[in-house]
Amino acid sequence: MGKQAILFDMDGVLFDSMPLHAKCWVEACRKFGLNATEQDTYMNEGRTALSTIDIFTREQWGRAVRPEEVDEIYAEKCRLFNLCPEAPKMPGAEQVLQRVRDAGLRIAVVTGSGQGTLLQRLETNYRGFFRPELIVSSRDCQRGKPNPDPYLLGLQRVGVSADAALVVENAPLGVMAAHAAGIFTIAVNTGPLPDSALMDAGADVLFPSMSALAANIDSLLG
Ligand code: CA
Repeated sequence: MGKQAILFDMDGVLFDSMPLHAKCWVEACRKFGLNATEQDTYMNEGRTALSTIDIFTREQWGRAVRPEEVDEIYAEKCRLFNLCPEAPKMPGAEQVLQRVRDAGLRIAVVTGSGQGTLLQRLETNYRGFFRPELIVSSRDCQRGKPNPDPYLLGLQRVGVSADAALVVENAPLGVMAAHAAGIFTIAVNTGPLPDSALMDAGADVLFPSMSALAANIDSLLG
């Protein structure tokens, strides 16, 4: 059936922000005595901050993380991130957005991020494409990716069933979440992980970049 809506992940899809996130996660965790590598960041990409830090504390401290610890570590991570140069828009993303808008699709964002600066930049950097009520962030969902909840909420917000929607994701856990929600999932491999990490997570099709997706998006709207 013809597609009526498309749900975009944000980091690594709309913004080329993952290298900065990875660097800042490593640094913030180190300040609080937790070891995290950039690879850990890419493998956990899409999880909420709480869920990510909880994995590290269970592994390294043998216990669940406390809410006040999450607040402190995440605040430090966001502080470091905001000191970095602004993450560029992902090349090709605006062309994808223009094509799907021309095709009449409803557009939403479904992100595990709660990073206010990036959420605001969606509206200033991609003017006219996103409505605030069609942005699902970590603030809207208790159970984040890889659970399907964020994408199910995204479907609800755009008012479209799973079989009439598409998802664009760059991370294995994000692909798992979208696949579990029953949505055709387009993976774009904009990071350092092998393609197999995205295909094994349940991606229906994979492109090496948003520019490559822009060149092929029409064939996926059928
Ligand atoms: Ca992402």
